[in-house]
Parts: sequence; structure tokens; C-alpha cells
Amino acid sequence: MNKYIETVLKDVYAKNADQKEFLQAVEEVLTSLDPVIKANKEYEKNAILERLVQPERTIIFRVPWVDDTGKVRVNRGYRIQFNSAIGPYKGGLRFDPSVNLSVLKFLAFEQIFKNSLTTLPMGGGKGGSDFNPKQSPHTPGKRCSDGEVMRFCQSFMTGLYKYIGADTDVPAGDMNVGGREIGYLFGQYKRLANEWTGVLTGKGLSFGGSLIRPEATGYGDIYFAENMLAMRGENFGGKACVVSGSGNVATYAAEKLLQLGAKVLTLSDRSGAIYAADGITEKMLKDIMYLKNVKRGELSEFAKKTKAVKFFAGANSWKLASKIDCAFPCARQNELNGDDAKYLVDHGCTLVGEGANMPSTPDAVAVFQKAKIMYSPGKASNAGGVATSGLEMSQNSERVSWTREQVDNRLKGIMKAIHDNTWEAAAKYGKKGNYVAGANIAGFTKVADAMVAQGIC
Ligand code: NAP
Repeated sequence: MNKYIETVLKDVYAKNADQKEFLQAVEEVLTSLDPVIKANKEYEKNAILERLVQPERTIIFRVPWVDDTGKVRVNRGYRIQFNSAIGPYKGGLRFDPSVNLSVLKFLAFEQIFKNSLTTLPMGGGKGGSDFNPKQSPHTPGKRCSDGEVMRFCQSFMTGLYKYIGADTDVPAGDMNVGGREIGYLFGQYKRLANEWTGVLTGKGLSFGGSLIRPEATGYGDIYFAENMLAMRGENFGGKACVVSGSGNVATYAAEKLLQLGAKVLTLSDRSGAIYAADGITEKMLKDIMYLKNVKRGELSEFAKKTKAVKFFAGANSWKLASKIDCAFPCARQNELNGDDAKYLVDHGCTLVGEGANMPSTPDAVAVFQKAKIMYSPGKASNAGGVATSGLEMSQNSERVSWTREQVDNRLKGIMKAIHDNTWEAAAKYGKKGNYVAGANIAGFTKVADAMVAQGIC
């Protein structure tokens, strides 16, 4: 490894010893930049890597709120404003008990390169809270009520609003932050700032949201995979696909797969995984979306009512089918390990398209790369969500709304551009076909050049 990269990495490890997800993300990016760093001496001269691994700003704040029994609860809120070299900070908000500084720094760091790949002017950020909307603080086994979620969101925005703005930092949704939460957050921002601007994306259609934004990450993941398949003269017709998760990204990835003629064999959630030997149908998928988004229930409940699926409690999606062509991890980080990766490869899998952020562990990535299968890292293949958020920002600035077809066509075009730029960057630096290296190099170069041009800041 290049001496400069080695020194920076050592320093990152020393300064962030307890942040394992952040260290994993930094190591994955920096170790793939060897050829670029060697070829461009000004990056070292300008301390680009030392600056790139340090967030521009980290905001941590108290989020007090009152539950339905009248008891005061206190959560921790965060916003990581990691890099604004190429545009305002942009990245989602995650509400989950697993949220901590390490997870959000890893997500914000990844977001820098992902946003750079979209071809749109957006910097990298991420935020959230350890608030758990899926578990009421006073009634075991029950979710927070709508009123509790609203009061939490209002308090969260009260802590955050002074640090964000349509030209400063534009948050969006992420895990457990969907249309309902964005609505409450937007309402509170408007009230505090006394202005109506596109300060959040993922908004409802009646107040500045963009058509296709809910679908964009899942659809984009599949459009990216379509481009990978096309390089080998293939398409999705009849392909057996396994998908993990059953949230926003997973369900829209599954929907697009069905539209393109693929068979979707699995979905999963915290309760376990479902396997449909004959494939999940459009009707089944609709029912699952209703169950997850409206009733806020679990796949175990769906399986009880549906004979065509088998339910595996506590399982993930990877080892349920005996013949697999493509896999789409769309739930969460580090959900697919080396063992799972071996199973996939041994059972015919030739394409893995990450919908989630960093869902494959480093040993899983090593298995995919050794087997030379098509493997796209989340920062490239799930960039369709943030890209469409960028399109929502453009529509808000222009005070216009584009049609479904207009946004979908832009999304398709952006995913093709990301695919092609990634492919070409890898080839240029001697790593042909390596989408991990290509995404890191293409994403990094644009940000690094902007940082050099802007001087030491
Ligand atoms: P979501 O709607 O909250 O769905 C997350 C899914 O993952 C749910 O099915 C959830 O199960 C499952 N899950 C979460 N933690 C789990 C665990 N510990 N064990 C098993 N299953 C678990 O979130 P999302 O928006 O689809 O995001 C999924 C991933 O995509 C995340 O990595 C996110 O950062 C990434 N991403 C999202 C977007 C976007 O636009 N939404 C954009 C880019 C990347 P339950 O339903 O049981 O909770």
C-alpha cells in the first residue's frame, strides 16, 4: 500500500479506535485509491486524505419529548456534516436504537462519494437518532404511537433546524424515517424558520415532494444491475433473485425486478425471512407493502396468511434458495457475511447489487471479487435515491413538478452514467470490471479536485 495512504489510515485508526463501522468504510475507500494517489501528487501535497476523513462539523444534541403516558423521554440527535466541497451537505436521517457516532460517520463518509457519483452538486452528510419508533417506551411489544413519533420529530427538528437549510444541508429519510416522519420534520422546520424551502427531501407530493422519490433507491439499484447485465449481453428475464429487507429499498427493488421479468424468491425483516419457491407475485408484494408501511407489521404475520411462502424465523435471505442468479442486499450494514457470500456463489449467483449501505462484510466482498462475479457497492448502486432527492431540490428551486416519466427517465440516465463512469474509472486505473475501485476512484477524484481548487479549508 502507498505510504501516504498507510500513514493516514494509521492515524484514523488511532483517533477513532471505537468506531468500527467508520473504520471499515474508511479502510475500504482509502485502500482502493492507491493508483490515483500515486498518479496525482497534489493530493498528498494538499493533505486531501487527512481532510477527507475528518467531518467538517459534527453536531450532537439532546432530544427531549413526552410520551403518551406523560413521561419525559430523552434521546440523542446527530448530524454529521462531512464534506461540502461539491455542494450542500446531503444525506438521510436514521431513527434506530443502533444509531451511534460510528454508524452515522460511516454513512456520511460513504455519502460523500455516492453523491459525487450522481453527477449532481451535493456534499456528504448523515444524521439521525437512537430513537426507536418500533418500540413504545412504555408498552412492551407495541410501537410508538403517531403522536409520540410526531412529538419526537418536532423536538428533533427543534434541535437541528439552525444547522440546516436549502443551500446548507438538506436531510432526507433513511431507516425508519419515511413519508410520515419527513412530514412532521418539515412542518416543524417551517414553523421555526418561518420559511417554505426545499430543506428536506422525500416530502409528500402535496408539499414539494418528487414523483418517483419513494421508488428511486430500489429502482435505481435494479437499473444499475441492468447496466451490469447488459455488459455481458444479458437481461433480467427469468433470473432467480434473492432480496433482503422489506422496507423502502427492498420492496421497490422487488417491484422493478418483477416488472423486468425476474423472479423474486425472498424478502426479510427483523422477524425473519420469507421464501416463495414460485416467486413473490405483484399482489403479494402489494400486500407486504401495505403490511409494512400502513399496518407497520412483520413478515411473520404475512407468512401466516399466505400458503405460497415459507417463513424462517430469525433467518436472512441468503441461504433459502437452491438456485440463485442475482442477490440484492437491501436491509442494513454488514448483513451478508463471507459464509453467505460463498453460499451465493456456490449456488450460481453471478450478480450482487447492493441496495443498502455497506451490507456486505469485507470477507464477503473478497469472496465476490475472487469469484469475479458482477458486484456493485451500495455507494454506486443505491445512489438513485439521493440522485432523485437532488432532482426534488431542483424542482423545489424552480417551483415546478416534473412528471413520473420525466423523473424516471432522469433516474435511468443517472444510473447509466454512474455505471459507465464507475466502469471507466476502474479501467483507467488498471482495475477493469472492479466496480468497488471504480466507484471509489470516480467519486473521490471529483471531490478531491474541488478541494484542491478551493484551497486549504
Ligand atoms: P427501511 O424502510 O427502514 O427498511 C429497512 C429494512 O431492513 C426493514 O425491512 C427492516 O426490518 C430491515 N432491518 C433493519 N435492521 C435489521 C436487523 N437488525 N435485522 C434484520 N432486518 C433488519 O429502510 P430503507 O430506507 O429501505 O433502507 C435500507 C438500507 O438502504 C439502509 O442501509 C439505508 O441506509 C440504505 N439506503 C436507503 C435509501 C433510501 O432512499 N431509503 C437510500 C440509499 C441507501 P423491519 O421492517 O422489521 O424493521
